[in-house]
Amino acid sequence: MHPDGEKIVLTEEEIGKRVRAMGEEISRDYQGKEILCVGILKGAMVFLADLVRRITAPAQFDFMAVSSYGASTRTSGVVRILKDLDRGIEGRHVLIVEDIVDTGLTLNYLVENLKSRGPASLNVCAFLDKPSRRLAPVDIHYNGFTIPDEFVVGYGLDYNESYRNLPYIMVLRPEVYGKGK
Ligand code: 5GP
Repeated sequence: MHPDGEKIVLTEEEIGKRVRAMGEEISRDYQGKEILCVGILKGAMVFLADLVRRITAPAQFDFMAVSSYGASTRTSGVVRILKDLDRGIEGRHVLIVEDIVDTGLTLNYLVENLKSRGPASLNVCAFLDKPSRRLAPVDIHYNGFTIPDEFVVGYGLDYNESYRNLPYIMVLRPEVYGKGK
């Protein structure tokens, strides 16, 4: 394990097995349809890359980057779109691919925003779910793992932009937060 880690929550093997199963489930559900996977940067990049290779239905992917407006407006759930989709999604079968759903504010906003663009269908696929912190309702159609309220890194998830490349999910040691790394 990385020296900054306190414990591994999900191993590379567990992740691989679950992502394979999710890909199979999605492939069955979307038979005869073309999926447009919308990855939310940067965290969902690693998950999306693994997931799309387990999907046997026709699939395309595109990305959005968003940032929250900060702590003071957090409960409003307003997020700023830093990078929008390259193309329109009208009539498309859209699958939002997210790294983790925490308060749900980001996804709640994204779902409403993308819905207004007239997709044929819109579903959410989240690698991790932390339901104990939910502030806004989110309907997660495909959920990788449900985890307790702990700050995790790895498999795309960062702390100050670090640890995204770890192939497993781990909890950071408290000293690492203290350092303000
Ligand atoms: P929400 O709007 O659901 O509160 O925010 C979700 C976003 O918060 C995720 O996309 C992720 O960037 C960040 N986040 C929430 N929980 C964690 C966590 O445990 N670890 C990391 N690295 N990021 C998290």
